[in-house]
Amino acid sequence: MLDTAIIGGGLCGLVLARSLQQQGQNFALFEARERLGGRIHSVPGADGGMALDLGPTWYWPHTQPRMTQLIATLGLSTFPQHDSAAVLSLTDPTRPPDRYENKSVHEGARRLAGGMASLVQALAAELPGAALHLGHALAALVERADHVELHFRDGTGTAPVIARRVLLALPPRLLEQHVRFEPALDESLRHTMRATPTWMAAQAKVVATYRRPFWRDAGLSGNAFADHSQVVLREVFDACDASAGQAALGAFIALTPAQRASFKAGLPLLISSQLAQLFGAEADTGVQHMQDWAEQADTCSALDLSAPDAGHAAGDTAALRLPWWRDKLYFCGAETAQHAPGYLEGALEAAERIFPLPAGRTPEPEIQRSSR
Ligand SMILES: Cc1cc2nc3c(=O)[nH]c(=O)nc-3n(C[C@H](O)[C@H](O)[C@H](O)COP(=O)(O)OP(=O)(O)OC[C@H]3O[C@@H](n4cnc5c(N)ncnc54)[C@H](O)[C@@H]3O)c2cc1C
Repeated sequence: MLDTAIIGGGLCGLVLARSLQQQGQNFALFEARERLGGRIHSVPGADGGMALDLGPTWYWPHTQPRMTQLIATLGLSTFPQHDSAAVLSLTDPTRPPDRYENKSVHEGARRLAGGMASLVQALAAELPGAALHLGHALAALVERADHVELHFRDGTGTAPVIARRVLLALPPRLLEQHVRFEPALDESLRHTMRATPTWMAAQAKVVATYRRPFWRDAGLSGNAFADHSQVVLREVFDACDASAGQAALGAFIALTPAQRASFKAGLPLLISSQLAQLFGAEADTGVQHMQDWAEQADTCSALDLSAPDAGHAAGDTAALRLPWWRDKLYFCGAETAQHAPGYLEGALEAAERIFPLPAGRTPEPEIQRSSR
């Protein structure tokens, strides 16, 4: 029998696994996808070089101590988000954009050299390969007297895995939609799970790579905002690597998941025309890399799809920070965090609730024990 089963191989699950590994405990991590990282997803650029972040890009050292500390501990190199020079604002599609000089947008954000996936790679490198089970989508959990039975979707074995405790490091809405709990969870807890949106789950992001950062030559930061009835990209930013040797612009797509689905074939053209309208004809030549997170069933639940701009978990999520099934079942994942829900920092905050830092370095008290 496993001591601990971790469900989900995103940042939260990997950090939980790292803590257990450091404590010499017996654990296994089960991840539905065929890759680790979850919402952290960086892909190679056109030349196979620089990693392009299609999930999270930034962390903020002045407000995110856990990310700052983890990145330093893992020895990863970082660089500031390019944020200086003019910002563009497009509010009328028939006119050129307005230009605002020297306006900082990203509030001291930093990026990881090699993309956010370098965090995933560094964490995974510390874990024994035999403990990491990809392609294992949890389908059901059954409470027994001193352990929990875990059942996975078809194709991942018929015999249940058994574990003394289970750490659920994934968005609560996915659990509520896809996992059967036996005995059934309290209706009030299920309500909280449904009411907790998965941050960014229904968004789509595009990164376009270029031969050179031509916008910088024009005194532009790469930051641009568009807000009008035909808008395709609502926010654009500079996504070059640290030296700007590989040039890129990143952007969040303004169209809803339904609009993206119906304009799928024409979307690259719509994206490049808006980039050209903002930054000039050269912006039309980018090689686009896009990720539509709304199409990812292991991130975006049906409820996230039905209310795509729900934002961060804002309601009372305290029930998600309590242990259930007499200390055998724990909810984790960024959405369960009290202070930074939905963020990378929140994923670390959630993991820290299970494995607090040594005294003096713990911002929140340890999770309370209960008999639920
Ligand atoms: C486009 C985008 C941009 C973002 N930008 C930022 C940013 O700049 N800064 C920031 O701080 N945050 C950002 N975020 C949010 C950030 O990505 C998340 O806070 C963080 O990655 C959450 O980590 P997690 O481990 O809690 O959850 P996830 O990364 O969602 O991990 C959950 C894991 O569980 C797996 N899983 C799902 N269902 C099952 C199942 N049934 N069985 C087994 N496994 C399952 C999933 O495949 C996934 O790997 C962004 C997110 C997106 C999508």
